[in-house]
Amino acid sequence: MTTTATAAVLHEVGGDFKLQDIVLDDLQADEIRVRIEACGICHTDIGAQGLLAMPAVLGHEGAGIVEEVGIGVTNVVPGDRVIISFGFCNHCPNCFEGRPYVCDNSVQSNFGGTRLDGSNTTTLDGKAITASFFQQSSFASQVITPVRNTVKVEQDLPPELLAPLGCGIMTGAGAVMNTLKVPAGESLVVFGSGAVGLSAIMAAKIVGANPIIAVDVNEQRLALAQDLGATHVINAGKVNSVEKIMEICPRGAAFSFETSGVESALNDAIDCLGMAGQCGMVTVPNYGEKYPFTPFGIFVKAATLQGVFFGSAVPNTFLGQIIDFYQQGRFPYDKLVKTYSFKDINRAMTETKSGDVIKPVLLMD
Ligand SMILES: [Zn+2]
Ligand SMILES: [Zn+2]
Repeated sequence: MTTTATAAVLHEVGGDFKLQDIVLDDLQADEIRVRIEACGICHTDIGAQGLLAMPAVLGHEGAGIVEEVGIGVTNVVPGDRVIISFGFCNHCPNCFEGRPYVCDNSVQSNFGGTRLDGSNTTTLDGKAITASFFQQSSFASQVITPVRNTVKVEQDLPPELLAPLGCGIMTGAGAVMNTLKVPAGESLVVFGSGAVGLSAIMAAKIVGANPIIAVDVNEQRLALAQDLGATHVINAGKVNSVEKIMEICPRGAAFSFETSGVESALNDAIDCLGMAGQCGMVTVPNYGEKYPFTPFGIFVKAATLQGVFFGSAVPNTFLGQIIDFYQQGRFPYDKLVKTYSFKDINRAMTETKSGDVIKPVLLMD
């Protein structure tokens, strides 16, 4: 039996979202239908629009209550609360080895616009539209998602704190803890103090990195970075950040993490490294364009430039750890969150683009 839901439908790249009735398909055996309570907004909801055929339903940080389960689903039942994370296929070699964050079918799973078998979950006015964004499309009152990319939550946390764990917060914390594996006592420089960068700083404090240096051009965000664990902050709009970093770390930084997507920041994140330093990057300047950096800076330091996908996290174990850290008061990511009513999605998007809000979360009820 199909289900009618309300979704924020995007009809043109960069345009406004329109709340419209959609119809969700019947569930396949391994799928569940979730009533979305909250959905975070992430910059990928803006940056990825150009990859999708319109109209489309975006949203990839959903959390909510299970309403219905497919016949093959045994680990959740209606009434359970779940966080929905990224899509993966569960049958490629990387998924088999327990690394779904580098699934061979990651692009198709998350940006393909359909289920992995090519079928559509969502119709608008009787026509199939692009959905299954990150196998969820959670800018909607209800979604269909494979159960494998959901995490059942036992803890009593409000939905606006559950939703953003599935992508941005996990990516920032995971970059430090899983991808770069920053050890205690080593230096880390984080470029960009948005949701990903600030999550990296909180994680760096937990693992005992030192110093933890935040670089941004926004004084308010730098103050928050300091509040969350940065030992030093640098305003790249006012001083030469590499020179400043070298004053703090005379041998160069052991680790850097570029989260801003600003061209000069990626250059600085490479230039500030010491010998055998490692730079993680979670976004890129100018999608698709050739990049004018000098590979010599990597070679001459035997440095590593590492792309970071989903913080190398296995959500089913890692999200529980983050929630534990939050409940212990060691990962206060609630300070990043601002809630909006679902109907105010366009205002939330505008404030996301302008940088006025760090982690906007839509509340569906
Ligand atoms: Zn896979
Ligand atoms: Zn995201």
